[in-house]
Amino acid sequence: MQVTAIREVECPECTKRTTISVPRDGVELKPSRSRKAFGDHTKVTCANGHSYWVYFC
Ligand SMILES: [Zn+2]
Repeated sequence: MQVTAIREVECPECTKRTTISVPRDGVELKPSRSRKAFGDHTKVTCANGHSYWVYFC
């Protein structure tokens, strides 16, 4: 996966923002606490230790 942009996502648990790399500018980010079987995604751990997945749409 080529990384071309930096964005912020909000933790679904505590709304703490984390900076992540995304594959392209303008992509829509969908944070999720459960793992789905499809789509480009990345795993994020927020500053408070919550792990979640972010899907690129
Ligand atoms: Zn959190």
